[in-house]
Amino acid sequence: MLIDSHCHLDRLTESPSGMTIDDILQSAAAAGVGRMLTVAVDRDDILRVIGHARAHREVYAAVGIHPSTPEDAAVDADALLAAAADPRVIAIGETGLDYYYGPDTAEAQRERFAMHLRVAARAGLPVIVHTRDARDDTLALLERHADRGCAGVMHCFTESIDMARAALALGFMISFSGIVTFRSAGALREVVREVALDRLLVETDSPYLAPVPHRGRVNEPRHVVHVAQAIAAIKDITLEQVAQATTANFYRLFPRAATAERA
Ligand SMILES: [Zn+2]
Ligand SMILES: [Zn+2]
Repeated sequence: MLIDSHCHLDRLTESPSGMTIDDILQSAAAAGVGRMLTVAVDRDDILRVIGHARAHREVYAAVGIHPSTPEDAAVDADALLAAAADPRVIAIGETGLDYYYGPDTAEAQRERFAMHLRVAARAGLPVIVHTRDARDDTLALLERHADRGCAGVMHCFTESIDMARAALALGFMISFSGIVTFRSAGALREVVREVALDRLLVETDSPYLAPVPHRGRVNEPRHVVHVAQAIAAIKDITLEQVAQATTANFYRLFPRAATAERA
């Protein structure tokens, strides 16, 4: 079984594809993708992802406010902590820093990221970190919170090998998306080669970033198979080995999901 460690199911059902959650889950299951983590980016999302995760045992939820989300669609620490108490919520995120889309809001982004890290520590949950053009500040904030036992994943990783090494040293996992299948992503495939199999997750970030051979179309969780296949080819191992390792890594990083499976 494969797990899509990062998708946006509510955005997918609102996309022109017209897909329902049941369509998405059925085609995912047929492709061997048995679980997925749907991730909130704003206040309304938080209710939707929890709703989806409560209604479907294949779906887990992460609650947080994306660094690019405007302040009027954000929540405060108390509201985030309350959402995190739901047993179907297994992570805080997505959070982080995006100076590519929001260089002018850098200071507010750092405050929001730090708030998420504090909530994650209090809730005892790992964080899902989005980082773009903000390498040093992202690592500095993670380092400052490292003593609180902060764990998590660098999602949709597109950064350098140096940043991967720094994140791994902080105890983080690295999640790769369909970008690893893009012809232009030679440098990223070198990063995949270097990250140990027991520190790696796979994701779609759907409905965005459809992998080859679906590039340019609406992405969905079943396409995480193409990400896993690309990683298998890069590491010269089987798809089954990638599936086994990334699924085990998922349950190790997100213990609440492992608990839910036993219930
Ligand atoms: Zn992201
Ligand atoms: Zn995302």
